[in-house]
Amino acid sequence: MQNESRISGFHKLSLSERRRTLADRTGLPADEIDLSLHAGGLDPATADKMVENAVGCYALPFGIALNVRVNGVDRLAPMVVEEPSVIAAASNAARIVRAEGGFYAEPLGNLMIAQVQLHDVGDPIQAAARICERSGSLLAACRGAVPNLVARGGGPQSLEVRDLGGGYMVVHVNIDCLDAMGANLVNGVAEAIGPHIAAIAEGTLGLRILSNLCDGRRIRVRCRARAEDLATRRPDSDEGYGGEEVIDRIVRASEFAERDPYRAATHNKGVMNGIDSVVLATGNDFRAVEAGAHAYACRSGVYRPLSIWRRDGSCLVGEIELPLALGIVGGTLRLQPAARLALKLARITSSPDLAALAASVGLASNLAALRALATEGIQRGHMSLHARSVATAAGARGDEVELIAQRLSTGRAINLEAAASLLGELRLSQAEPRAADAE
Ligand code: NAD
Repeated sequence: MQNESRISGFHKLSLSERRRTLADRTGLPADEIDLSLHAGGLDPATADKMVENAVGCYALPFGIALNVRVNGVDRLAPMVVEEPSVIAAASNAARIVRAEGGFYAEPLGNLMIAQVQLHDVGDPIQAAARICERSGSLLAACRGAVPNLVARGGGPQSLEVRDLGGGYMVVHVNIDCLDAMGANLVNGVAEAIGPHIAAIAEGTLGLRILSNLCDGRRIRVRCRARAEDLATRRPDSDEGYGGEEVIDRIVRASEFAERDPYRAATHNKGVMNGIDSVVLATGNDFRAVEAGAHAYACRSGVYRPLSIWRRDGSCLVGEIELPLALGIVGGTLRLQPAARLALKLARITSSPDLAALAASVGLASNLAALRALATEGIQRGHMSLHARSVATAAGARGDEVELIAQRLSTGRAINLEAAASLLGELRLSQAEPRAADAE
């Protein structure tokens, strides 16, 4: 069995051939792959247990980004996303950086934050001193709220007190949630300890909940790309851009985002294309990830890009850093077989490994977008993929999709009317010889 994330010609296979290839690559039973992905992995009866007022399920495409190598390990990267070109672009950028070893990830802590809000605290300085004095017994009480987590080697580690002014205070309990995302675990601790803290502070108890700005659980990923691998110009052509120029253009695009929040927002959207897709595929909470990422992007008081790109000799180097609380146990994973399959396909066995994969795919998506934007623009590539969606929406099926998409891409407009008209013409031209045969 090969552990390679490079699969030549994968995009040319049919959907069922791709599933068989995945089974061969990973050793997972083919019927487990089929069953896990059947109807999006979720049946309506299960959906009815997950949320209120359920009336059905809403499916999205589940694909695999190829060529991804993180810390020397090849990973098939599961992505759930509705936007065309995202998976192809991430795979392409992952192939470019693979020549320099792929992605290098470094987890920066694993601590989630439980917040206990207090208000109407008469003497915040004295209150903070009393809380700090009693931190040992408070932490013991926190640990009592999550005995299973503590038994596994995680749990509450430390306390911090912050004076917010105006009689407002907040106490943070820093908790290692190991391989869980941790929201419910953290909220349990905050609710258990809240009344004790309020009594010690002689204040009124307010909210007790996690912070999604989990900056004690960050991931940093770096990658390098060689100029020759970034070039868009073929050796036998004058069209396109040489690798050194592509590096300069990407660095200028990064500096643009570093100076302008309007650009930084779109830069980060490109990053989140990759991160959210992996987060969704693995059954994690993308709202939590989004909230944390954008709050972190704004930590200096100005909204900034989550990743930056610089030149190093004849290489481009990229680095991303963000908070990423992702679970490989609990949450949706209990109920969503497609999410469990996603973890198996990527051979993910720990929360930091999943964060490393998601951030790597985010950096790959970012590189692909910047390379296209800084050179020929994204419309040409994007529109040819968009044409396939439009062709499908117009009713094209099987081989018709590619034929109609090609004709749409070379025509003047890519819209439903044009696709429907081309489809009508195609079917007519295919029907004519058959009609002639019948005569
Ligand atoms: P959870 O409630 O399922 O708890 C995880 C469980 O897994 C715990 O019982 C834990 O003991 C167990 N576990 C087994 N093996 C473990 C291991 N190796 N490491 C750690 N725990 C292990 O899930 P959660 O992670 O506490 O909470 C995640 C859910 O909370 C998500 O569905 C999220 O959408 C939701 N949520 C999010 C927010 C927010 O982000 N603001 C707020 C509320 C709820």
